[in-house]
Amino acid sequence: MIPDKHIPQRFNLVNVLWDIQKKRRYISKDDIAKIANEFNISKTELEGIISFYHFFHFKDAGKYTIYLNCSTISKLYNYHEVKKAFEDELGIKMGNTTKDKMFGLFQTSCIGLSDQETSALINYYPFTNLTAEKARTLIAKIRAGHSLQELCNFPKDNIQYKPEDENKTIFFKPFEIGDGLKKLKKLSPEDVIKMVEDSKLSGRGGAFFPTGTKWKYCRNNVSDQKYIICNADEGEPGTFKDRVLLNSYPELLIEGMAIAGYAVGATEGFIYLRAEYKYLKEGIEKAIENFNQAKLLGKVILGIENFDFNVQIFIGAGAYVCGEETALIASMEGKRGEPTTKEYFPVEKGYLGKPTVVNNVETLCAVPRLLEMGLKNYLAIGTKSTPGTKLLSVSGDCTKPGVYEIEWGMKLKDFLVLIGANDPYMILFNGFAGECLSSVDFEREISGENLLADQIQFTFKDPIEYAHKMSGVGLRSGGSFMVFNQSRSLISVLKNITDFFVAESCGICVPCRTGNFLLSRKIDKIKLGHGSKSDMEEIQEWSHIIKQSSRCGLGKTSTNCLLTAMLKFPEEFEKLTKDESDFNDAFNIDRATQNYDNIIQEIESTYD
Ligand code: SF4
Repeated sequence: MIPDKHIPQRFNLVNVLWDIQKKRRYISKDDIAKIANEFNISKTELEGIISFYHFFHFKDAGKYTIYLNCSTISKLYNYHEVKKAFEDELGIKMGNTTKDKMFGLFQTSCIGLSDQETSALINYYPFTNLTAEKARTLIAKIRAGHSLQELCNFPKDNIQYKPEDENKTIFFKPFEIGDGLKKLKKLSPEDVIKMVEDSKLSGRGGAFFPTGTKWKYCRNNVSDQKYIICNADEGEPGTFKDRVLLNSYPELLIEGMAIAGYAVGATEGFIYLRAEYKYLKEGIEKAIENFNQAKLLGKVILGIENFDFNVQIFIGAGAYVCGEETALIASMEGKRGEPTTKEYFPVEKGYLGKPTVVNNVETLCAVPRLLEMGLKNYLAIGTKSTPGTKLLSVSGDCTKPGVYEIEWGMKLKDFLVLIGANDPYMILFNGFAGECLSSVDFEREISGENLLADQIQFTFKDPIEYAHKMSGVGLRSGGSFMVFNQSRSLISVLKNITDFFVAESCGICVPCRTGNFLLSRKIDKIKLGHGSKSDMEEIQEWSHIIKQSSRCGLGKTSTNCLLTAMLKFPEEFEKLTKDESDFNDAFNIDRATQNYDNIIQEIESTYD
């Protein structure tokens, strides 16, 4: 059953909070008391939920709420000038609201527009390629009464590059609504699962869990209700390929969700759309409507007995960790979006305790294509371990940023040529949770071939040994590909990354919450030229502790970039750190405690 939007049950809590925030621009103490009462939860718990999300406010956030993107790519462009222009024009500092409550100015991490930085959202309308002048004009026009709808002309997204050979592209061929779905007339759910398993399609959001296996587990769990959730919470900094699919190819997604529903026996589908992509909601709703009109959603789809499926959209409220599937489900259930310990996998007990498949947008979009083109044609693309293609979101120092569809197996050096990378020095591959690549990686291919276990990959100490061992190892990315040339400050990029994890850690486990905070301070110290070799050793040590002892993927991957940057760019750290002996030891802890040590020794000797 589709949850009714107006029922005061936990699964509607985030919707209700959005409704209030939209009406009043913030959630007041009275609102909290009323909702807590209606939903039968404590005010403290409710405040904990509200404060968990970036986009819910306890104070008036202004009639026009501006969120300026402060991610690392935004800072390569005009972030500082645009920030100053907004602050000057509005007469307020970042994080405040004007006295007349007309404007609120806040910063936020990556909003999925890294190909068009510097960008901002105003009441969730996107404004891209901002300059200081554009920011000033924008404010003047809003003050003059122009509507945001009129001022924002965000276009349909185009793919920057797709393989020239039509048989090598999966996503961007012309298609008719229902092309893949119609194949179901001749396929049983088990046939579909087998085909997806044989295709080796795996989670394209970055986890790369085999999709067919996930579907099979879900199918095998008997239940009166199952769910398909599309994870459209594309929060990994530098990734925006799902934005393009959602913006220009929503039909493909809905078709993929319906096929998944048929395969596992689910009748309800949800698209968990990140709040940063609210502007895409209307287009997706139109696509759902088209499917309803064409009777490709609803009851007895295509005349197939028991094939009932519906799709609705759930809007997130700004939390990177909700990209993790158990956190996403918790968020949909009206709780803080914190990851669970996976006592049960979602395919066993997921949304509202029912078997649930959570798949990324790109994964689901690939399914109708697979059915339509057939397994043989699909397997003819890509590599043995990773057949098919991959969408990469390219940003930073290159002449052609945008979304690229490439066949798995392309060499990194060839991809750099394709995107017009100028003097590539460092590549942030797979986002902030990924790794730093340097010229030692250029010969490697983008694929899932010969992968090493994560822990091995991040324990190399010597760049030469690393280059030797990793030369034949593929590179897999969920989609983010950020290029930096030599003029960029690597330490500033790393600072942006650690600050990001400090802000986005849900705080439930100590290594992730405290460890990333301490790393951020260490980087500050190094950036200021006060770092020493022992700081470097501590960073290494703490990074591994955080990796090994954090509960979820956020913590486990939060130090990947730092570790790989230290391995591949030691010179960057050497120029910023000193030997202990270089520091003025005006204060020496050993000398300062010498008397104390002597006293202790004397006391101890009296007991001998
Ligand atoms: Fe939360 Fe970080 Fe622990 Fe994940 S690793 S559960 S984000 S504190």
